[in-house]
Amino acid sequence: MRPTCLFPLFAETSTIPGVGERVKDILGNLAGYRIIDLIWHVPYSIIDRRNMPSIPEMRPGTITTTLVRVEKYLPPPTHSKKKPPFKVICYHPTGFLTLVFFHGKEQYIQKLLPLGEMRVISGTVDRYDGGVQMVHPDHIAPESALSLVQKVEAVYSLTQGITHRYLHKIMEAALHRTPSLPEWIEAALLQQYHWKDWQTAIKSLHTPQAATDLAATAHTRMRLAYDELLANQLALKLMRKAATKAKGYSIKGSGTLCRQLYNTLPFSLTSNQKLVLKEIFTDQEKPYRMMRLLQGDVGSGKTIVAVFAMLNAIDAGFQAALMAPTEILARQHAASIQKLLVPLGINVAFLSGTVKRKERTVLLQALAQGTIPIIIGTHALFQDDIMFHKLGLAVIDEQHRFGVKQRMLLTKKGGNTDMLMMSATPIPRTLSLSLYGDIECSLLTEKPSGRQPITTRMVPIQKLSSIIDGLKRILSKKEKVYWICPLIDESESSDLAAAKERHTTLTHIFGTRVGLVHGQMKAKEREEAMAAFKDGQVDILVATTVIEVGVDVPHATTIVIEHAERFGLSQLHQLRGRVGRNDKACFCILLYHALPHLAKERLKTMCESNDGFFIAEQDLRLRGSGEILGTRQSGLPEYKIANLYDHFDLLKIASKDADYILHQDPKLSSERGQALKTLLYLFDYDEQVKFLQAG
Ligand code: ADP
Ligand code: MG
Repeated sequence: MRPTCLFPLFAETSTIPGVGERVKDILGNLAGYRIIDLIWHVPYSIIDRRNMPSIPEMRPGTITTTLVRVEKYLPPPTHSKKKPPFKVICYHPTGFLTLVFFHGKEQYIQKLLPLGEMRVISGTVDRYDGGVQMVHPDHIAPESALSLVQKVEAVYSLTQGITHRYLHKIMEAALHRTPSLPEWIEAALLQQYHWKDWQTAIKSLHTPQAATDLAATAHTRMRLAYDELLANQLALKLMRKAATKAKGYSIKGSGTLCRQLYNTLPFSLTSNQKLVLKEIFTDQEKPYRMMRLLQGDVGSGKTIVAVFAMLNAIDAGFQAALMAPTEILARQHAASIQKLLVPLGINVAFLSGTVKRKERTVLLQALAQGTIPIIIGTHALFQDDIMFHKLGLAVIDEQHRFGVKQRMLLTKKGGNTDMLMMSATPIPRTLSLSLYGDIECSLLTEKPSGRQPITTRMVPIQKLSSIIDGLKRILSKKEKVYWICPLIDESESSDLAAAKERHTTLTHIFGTRVGLVHGQMKAKEREEAMAAFKDGQVDILVATTVIEVGVDVPHATTIVIEHAERFGLSQLHQLRGRVGRNDKACFCILLYHALPHLAKERLKTMCESNDGFFIAEQDLRLRGSGEILGTRQSGLPEYKIANLYDHFDLLKIASKDADYILHQDPKLSSERGQALKTLLYLFDYDEQVKFLQAG
């Protein structure tokens, strides 16, 4: 149950005097229906009304406050066709100020500005006919109200049907109801940052005194951001605790199959890979359901880790499945995993939308009977009619490519199957924390040994011929080249035409050793083109972005990315990751046509860094967190105050703090625990609080 101290905040806005049905709905659209929603409607700018210059010093266009005596009315001539404004002349010891009202009700104006009385006026001044005037002042108030007018005003985003002034009145009422709440932040941290209590912070959030108070890094906003991040972390961790209690299989293979594979591998696992595998094996053995995210930069060798985990399940008598987001990638995985497992006597099945009906029926039967131990495929693997005999592990490669909904569906379909998700979009640590706080993370930070950093250059399209010369040298060393043409939207025909044209021009130069793949080709053709590049006669592969994810052709050493300015940073990094999968010197050429400012920064970042996490953080900086994984779809939390760029460090502290709290006081029953419960309710984590009672 929500603590009583929060009741005033969770009351409806209609409990504020003056907020009727109509305004309630307007506010509802603007911010929400509860007082707390208004509280989170944060000002984005200020108006400074402190400036009180003399009349001659008034600068046109600036907000000015002044104290004047109402001197004289200048009503418009009654016979005029176009209705001129009603004017009021006001006296100030330094000069006269004319107030101008269009379409004003004269009686109303005269009531506001009685002749001979002193009035505080505030608004934007301008010059007209040699005099100083103010059209429709923002404020007209009696002299006694000077201090109320002469201040800094918060500016909120508005919507139709509500004025700045009216919203201010409502906000004032809302702030008035803001209670003092028990402190949930640890005293030491409060002290370190010199933070004020919550109530004070909320009040100063809405009464900024200078533009600097609006910055995300301003004092008040930092505290409130911390509150939000702490609530979010606590909620995620409570959910995770509940989730890991979900029953699952306890899987422990004899180790025979893993050992056999280990002995036949042409390389040895890095110590990082071994460590991650140990984490996974430990999870598999627990009688709970595993939910683990394996993150690693492109080329860090996630696939082989997944293969060992799947073997472990198979060894213990379970089935395993691996799902990839594209047909190309799924087929590539199937082929390479087959190569590894067939020698061990394990058959690897494949399923995608392109598999023929008859074949599919046979497959489904075998899956249900359990005669197929391992299957690789696209999301076709998780259609309704597919039954596994005993699915022990589901691996999802490039999991961020699947929408949030698909992911949920999958998780449900899996029942108590262990889940291993893999992601090569190097999600910044902080972002992953807030995204996946609810699942365990493993990190592959180390690349397989012997890899050299990829040399990246940005080159204008005018220098195409020198690039071609460079490629000739590369091909003479029997190395392979990717040539990427942008095709962000597969239905974009002009882009496709450009890719085909590039294929033609390169064919003219290099003869028939140039291949082409794009998303509109039939799966079979695409597969043949890929195979020809991987093992065959094709040395240069012109490709659209279909090859962006996961494709692995180790002896490719150079990638040319045309129109590089059109790609996002993370996407460029993904593409570049197609090379650098061997011990040779590798190159990435970013060809550009035009170079707008942000694009230049992106390409420069690429030239300067090979570190996926750094690049992702830069991407975050340049684009904002919402966009990094394809906006809303990504399931990113939408914060009210916090943002992951400015509040990185706070998020880390909040995460640690949440761990500490749940370790010390798992039921949140101490005094601080109670305060933290209030915090959870404050951020609408009612559902997550329930886990406390259950646990
Ligand atoms: P990603 O993490 O991008 O999915 P992959 O799993 O495709 O990377 O691995 C990249 C390449 O590195 C593959 O060709 C793989 O066989 C190879 N590889 C993986 N682990 C090692 C290792 N420990 N030593 C050498 N090569 C490795
Ligand atoms: Mg991969």
